[in-house]
Amino acid sequence: MNRRHLGLSALALAVALTGAPIAAQENGTIGIAMPTKSSSRWISDGESMVAQFEEAGYDTDLQYAEDDIPNQLAQIENMITKGVDALVIAAIDGTTLSNALANAAALDIPVVAYDRLIRDSGDVDYYATFDNFQVGVQQANSLVEGLEERFPDAETWNVELFGGSPDDNNAYFFYDGAMSVLQPLIDDGSINVVSGQMGMDTVGTLRWDGAVAQARMDNLLSAHYTDAQVHGVLSPYDGLSIGILSSLKGVGYGSGDQPMPIVTGQDAEIPSVKSILAGEQYSTIFKDTRELARVTVGMVDALLQGGEPEINDTSTYDNGVKVVPSYLLEPVPVDADNWEDVLLGSEYYTRDQIEQ
Ligand code: BGC
Repeated sequence: MNRRHLGLSALALAVALTGAPIAAQENGTIGIAMPTKSSSRWISDGESMVAQFEEAGYDTDLQYAEDDIPNQLAQIENMITKGVDALVIAAIDGTTLSNALANAAALDIPVVAYDRLIRDSGDVDYYATFDNFQVGVQQANSLVEGLEERFPDAETWNVELFGGSPDDNNAYFFYDGAMSVLQPLIDDGSINVVSGQMGMDTVGTLRWDGAVAQARMDNLLSAHYTDAQVHGVLSPYDGLSIGILSSLKGVGYGSGDQPMPIVTGQDAEIPSVKSILAGEQYSTIFKDTRELARVTVGMVDALLQGGEPEINDTSTYDNGVKVVPSYLLEPVPVDADNWEDVLLGSEYYTRDQIEQ
């Protein structure tokens, strides 16, 4: 419950019961704009932030926009009108918020870009994220490791490439990171992108939509693989991987004498962890959303209480207007060998959630 909306009598009752005013109100209210509930990672992000902000003495106004850009804009404008003390935004389209953020700046409302960089605005104060280039490097390293393991005798590995949403700045970092590993292997002939489809303009997947990825994989298979075998697919996100895998299964991969291609992913979402255990998806990248929330809450708290937000990068994230000071967390690759250590060991999931 949003404590700000507790009636006076409820507040009086709480004071009477605990002997102290409810602490959560004293530092202000934080507006948190998240892209969508259709992917569980953003739900975890929201939950972690609400819990940690409350612990630090803040109220929160958490909104999800179901990947609808005007909806997210309206939510943010509404938060500004209601007078939030700070904004934390994981943008759907990183380029559409400039006017709203100018309004926030005019009211001295600090803005932290969460996970995804907000572009084309000077009114973004800080950026909390993971090392997104490194995510792509890890995805490609895992793809190559899987190809060596499952297809040691192939002269050339036939691989197709998928990118994330072209309106998400992260998608370019993931792709570029992956290509820093894959391009030399394409150049020396170890990997063949049979369709020839490369570059974010060609392989991007609007709104990270799994159905779009599945349809594209269907087309790739019928146009380029009637006589050739797919060995691997670079997928930047678990939701896309699930779509790609069902397309592959649809034409018989993963059964009989057709081994499943190596398919990567990101976010360690439960359906994908289960798929890894079932021998379908090969790997994913774990990004501990609790840690991202911790860094973000720390940044906001410093901004509002007059401290110095903690950063570890001042050169990578140029948003077109300024280089946004950032804190980058380390992503962790996960596969069938280390999932227990990483995902259960960190208590991100319980065994039941994965094995039930
Ligand atoms: C996030 C990824 C996520 C993707 C799709 C990206 O901006 O960094 O973790 O897989 O969006 O939601």
